[in-house]
Amino acid sequence: MTDIERIRKKIKEFNSDRDWDQYHNPKDLLIALMSEVGELADYYRWLSHEELKKVHSNPEQKKKIEEEIADILIYLITLAEKTDIDIIKATEAKLEKNKTKYPVKKIKGIHSNSLEGIKGKE
Ligand SMILES: [Mg+2]
Repeated sequence: MTDIERIRKKIKEFNSDRDWDQYHNPKDLLIALMSEVGELADYYRWLSHEELKKVHSNPEQKKKIEEEIADILIYLITLAEKTDIDIIKATEAKLEKNKTKYPVKKIKGIHSNSLEGIKGKE
């Protein structure tokens, strides 16, 4: 059993034991997922890169970030489960698609922003 299968099984058992399955429709799972992303973003809001380095090296603060990342993964896995999407296969397929979209020779060291265009190596 892979790590993701083991986690998926634990999540399923957790929700089943609490009879929460009845509430887990894709729309509400997506809203819950976005709420958890918002909770994580709240920890990062207004902090500089230097301040974030301190947060990440503080065990108590890092633990809170870990918990939000876990909440995000739990809802993401549950959403994938409810929509009958194999999250590993979908991720592998998307990575392959991205390889074609962003060929290393063309894009290495470069990123773009919709407002400011291409940044990085010229
Ligand atoms: Mg949370």
